[in-house]
Amino acid sequence: MRSIKLLAIWIGMLSAFPSGLSAQDEEYPLILIPTDENDYSYPTDYQIPWEQIEIRVTEKFSPNLVSLHGSPRLDPAHPDGSGGRVMVLHGPDGVLMVDTQNRQVAEKTYAAIRSLTNQPIKVVVNSHIHSDHTGANEFFGKKGALIFAQENLRLDMINPLRPDGSPARRRDPIGIPVATYEWDPTAPGDAAVTLNMNGETVDFIPMMPSHTAGDTIVRFRKANVIYIEDFYRNYGFPFAAQASGGSIKGIIEAIDLFREIADDATWLVPGHGTLIRRDDLIPYRDMLVDIVNNVSVLRAQGNTLEQVFTANLTEPYEQSVRGATQQNRNRFIRAVYDEVENFPPIVNGRRAMPMHR
Ligand SMILES: [Zn+2]
Repeated sequence: MRSIKLLAIWIGMLSAFPSGLSAQDEEYPLILIPTDENDYSYPTDYQIPWEQIEIRVTEKFSPNLVSLHGSPRLDPAHPDGSGGRVMVLHGPDGVLMVDTQNRQVAEKTYAAIRSLTNQPIKVVVNSHIHSDHTGANEFFGKKGALIFAQENLRLDMINPLRPDGSPARRRDPIGIPVATYEWDPTAPGDAAVTLNMNGETVDFIPMMPSHTAGDTIVRFRKANVIYIEDFYRNYGFPFAAQASGGSIKGIIEAIDLFREIADDATWLVPGHGTLIRRDDLIPYRDMLVDIVNNVSVLRAQGNTLEQVFTANLTEPYEQSVRGATQQNRNRFIRAVYDEVENFPPIVNGRRAMPMHR
């Protein structure tokens, strides 16, 4: 009698959790708000209406790992979702954030985190220097976060001039990364920092000069998720911020590293656009290699940048690149042109790029 009762309870438990643990893994990531994939156009005098931008929890990767993203349509540089994605790992050990979003939406980013947890903001890691990823560093530094980044990012950030030579915005030191580390060419893919927080093991992996010279990707081992920031994008042509040390060839190297540090089941979280898998990097890499080869040949033959623009090398990719514009197409071709000959070295997180703009 007693054993029958226990059996009944056991069967009842099985049916209460019919899918078991493996099926639970399969349901992640939960796409709570799908990335907007439409094209929008903006008048030339368009100003971002910051007050209209909401910061929402858009994807969930585990019970305590999510990403936040801004509203679509309102930010011309990122119509898919304003600003850069922020990842939030929360729990009893405190909050870890990957990137801090634009400073104009800092309170909203904070409110989105507070909708998940009341634990203190403990750690921020910056994937790269751009303001849609570091803009609210000061805000979260004042909340008590220790900010991590590559040393090249810090050097770029403390420079009193912007890469174009104009005066930089004055920054409160509280928002500047103090826990810094360097890219080690002899150990690509190795974590510079590993944290054990909230049941996760989190690796800060410095990258070779690619989107900038201060890139970090962030791996969440248990969830099998990697935040890959902006060296990859599925909105507009590839972007290497060369004045901040970026490199198109470095982007190709960055992609190649994923053969080792990701597997077929890993979800890759770009700073913008839709989530991808490792194999989605292949056509992106093919395009980069093709354009680098073709621009190299044309430049070696003595063609000017204008002549290379006229060659329309991106034509085969126009259909597959969503959000392609004259601006991001030319920026890509110009970057390759500048890189294949006389590419300036990185000094203090910067490259002295030629001024043929
Ligand atoms: Zn970005």
